Amino acid sequence: MDKMNETIREAEESLLHTYNRFPVVFDHGEGVRLYDTEGKEYLDFCAGIAVHALGYGNREYEEALTAQLKKLTHTSNYYYNEPAVRAAKALLRITGLSKVFFTNSGAEAVEGAIKAARKYAYLKDQKTDHEIIAMEHSFHGRTMGALSVTGNSAYQEPFLPMIGNIRFAAFNDLNSVKALVNDRTCAIILETVQGEGGIVPATKEFLSGVRELCDEKGLLLILDEIQCGMGRSGEMFAYELYGVRPDIVTVAKGIGSGIPVGAFVLSEEVAEHSLKAGDHGTTYGGNPFAACAVETVISQFEKLNLTERVKETGKYLGERLSELVKEYDFIREARGVGLMWGLEFVKEKPVSEVCKRSLENGLVLVSAARNTLRFLPPLIVTKQDIDEMIEKLRRSL
Ligand SMILES: *Cc1c(COP(=O)(O)O)cnc(C)c1O
Repeated sequence: MDKMNETIREAEESLLHTYNRFPVVFDHGEGVRLYDTEGKEYLDFCAGIAVHALGYGNREYEEALTAQLKKLTHTSNYYYNEPAVRAAKALLRITGLSKVFFTNSGAEAVEGAIKAARKYAYLKDQKTDHEIIAMEHSFHGRTMGALSVTGNSAYQEPFLPMIGNIRFAAFNDLNSVKALVNDRTCAIILETVQGEGGIVPATKEFLSGVRELCDEKGLLLILDEIQCGMGRSGEMFAYELYGVRPDIVTVAKGIGSGIPVGAFVLSEEVAEHSLKAGDHGTTYGGNPFAACAVETVISQFEKLNLTERVKETGKYLGERLSELVKEYDFIREARGVGLMWGLEFVKEKPVSEVCKRSLENGLVLVSAARNTLRFLPPLIVTKQDIDEMIEKLRRSL
């Protein structure tokens, strides 16, 4: 314990305190389990916030990345590399879209999507006053552009002014979106399932309505699938559950399963009429090492038949969580899709307390807005792991 406390003390001395961290130092992982530096085992239902899709210690992933590490990690986007081509082709196959730009993070993918949408509109009418409609309680990242479309005034206030011409509608309220559309509107951005906002799936009527509205008014639909994409919903992308296709999709988190990588992916129409040579760039984005991770993650999804597994385990997780809603009067609701679930508590029972106790009981959980406990296990989780999680959670409740 002393060594772990010493590391925590040193961390607080040297790292900028932008997080109130849990008092634990993780050392290694195996499957769906994490181990701290004292050797204590934890069942992980956070997965580094929906990152470790493949869990820990996937052999083929480790071997592919080790081989790529020894070969070449980085070139520059001035040159071509084979892993980026294979990763892009795989990503196009699973998104059904036309062109990829690789980034290093989710926020950067959102930045790129915003730039592509603005350029697309600019090429149409040469105007420079286009508006984007975003959603209340959304989360798109912490960089200035991504923060500007994040519907959380507490996150924005100290950093005002945001980038201009962003309007906020109420999520799942089509009329509130319609009311904001005018001749300057160029795009609508939303999460298919709101993550940080408390695990709130878009309703079918809302998402199909927004798609129709975009088609009717010539607006781009940008779906942020950074958290809900990459198999977490039981489909490769959550928009497949709705039979809706975006013009631009942003991905990150699970796509690298632990290596920092993201992407924005565009339809042929948008790719043809938006960002051109010189308009956008990145030093690291799509380097051979990160691209190797993407390529391997997507091939592992197919090999392990992960989306089919998620459909089944996700249904089971939803059932087990719904039992808790009946059982505990301070739990208001269970919401979610696939292996992305939230348990909303009444205000008087702060979920942060449950996260702390769960950690003591060897269970890693994080919270989200609306006093919601969040469940985002690695996608390889089994029903037995879910049973074990429920048992540990009960003790923490
Ligand atoms: C995490 C997240 C982001 C930001 O990704 P980073 O990699 O942290 O920059 C954006 N959108 C959604 C929906 C997210 O969950």
